[in-house]
Amino acid sequence: FTLLGGLLLSIFVCTLIYHSYLNRHNVEKEILRGLKNKEFFVEYQPVIESRSMKITGVEALLRWQHPIEGRIPPDLFIAYAETQGLIVQLTQHMMALVAADAHELQRAFSDKAKLSINISPHHMNKVSFHDDVLNFVEALPENAFQVVFEITERGMIDTEAAIREFNWLRRHKIEIAIDDFGTGHSALIYLEKFTLDYLKIDRGFVMSIDQKTLIAPVLDTVLRLTEELKLKTVAEGVETHQQADYLRNHGVTYLQGFLYSKPLGITVLMDFIRDFNEKEACYHI
Ligand code: C2E
Ligand code: MG
Ligand code: MG
Ligand code: MG
Repeated sequence: FTLLGGLLLSIFVCTLIYHSYLNRHNVEKEILRGLKNKEFFVEYQPVIESRSMKITGVEALLRWQHPIEGRIPPDLFIAYAETQGLIVQLTQHMMALVAADAHELQRAFSDKAKLSINISPHHMNKVSFHDDVLNFVEALPENAFQVVFEITERGMIDTEAAIREFNWLRRHKIEIAIDDFGTGHSALIYLEKFTLDYLKIDRGFVMSIDQKTLIAPVLDTVLRLTEELKLKTVAEGVETHQQADYLRNHGVTYLQGFLYSKPLGITVLMDFIRDFNEKEACYHI
């Protein structure tokens, strides 16, 4: 019986290993094929300055339109790409797509607009990182954008290396935002060690405003802290007026969420920004 059990168990384990290998293998091949096949594209979500209630920038978000699976959310393929080093190729591609849109995009704004890009902490350690960043910045129309890199705390293990990279980025006039703030570990430690420009307050905190969840008091603490540290704040996932009012009244600098707009393709985005910025101007006079 033990022999048979052992045999069955090892067959089971082998099948598991084989399947996970196959899965990994396929996803990697699929991403590379998708890159070649131009299945990836970018959408932009408007970011609203809460004082003026105008769109002052956008966040670029990567999308994958798979020929069979349909739209695959970035949460699925980014995490995978991070473990396989594919994140570098994906980000290079993403930057090229954004740079190609940038000449058109600048025409939607009368002032220097903020252009936010999500950067994986895994990419920051790679040899090509500085070249990738410089290539991207040089491909943008001159003086049209303030580039902001959004970096999640998750995966940011080597603090010393992160500090070095952040300083390099700042020397190259790139602003830094900690994304999904509050979802990583030892979040508060980073605030002391890093020179940052923005904290992006995670949607979980924003949801706590009208759902009165247990973490609601934490949001107030975070907001008081950012005020003290003179950090600008961006609230993500704003879906209701109640949330927006609360965040504005508590000094949050920027608002972003479905209440204003979903991420949009460049063509629709252009009209949206122009309409929104005109309409809001009349509304407030
Ligand atoms: P993120 O950077 O925190 O981006 C915000 C996500 O929240 C986006 O999801 C956006 O569509 C969604 N969102 C915005 N407003 C609302 C709202 O009011 N309600 C709800 N329910 N959701 C809202 P998306 O596009 O699916 O992206 C998910 C994550 O994938 C991003 O989170 C980011 O971490 C990652 N990601 C996306 N594009 C890239 C990329 O080019 N590079 C890297 N490294 N990561 C990326
Ligand atoms: Mg982001
Ligand atoms: Mg975020
Ligand atoms: Mg998020």
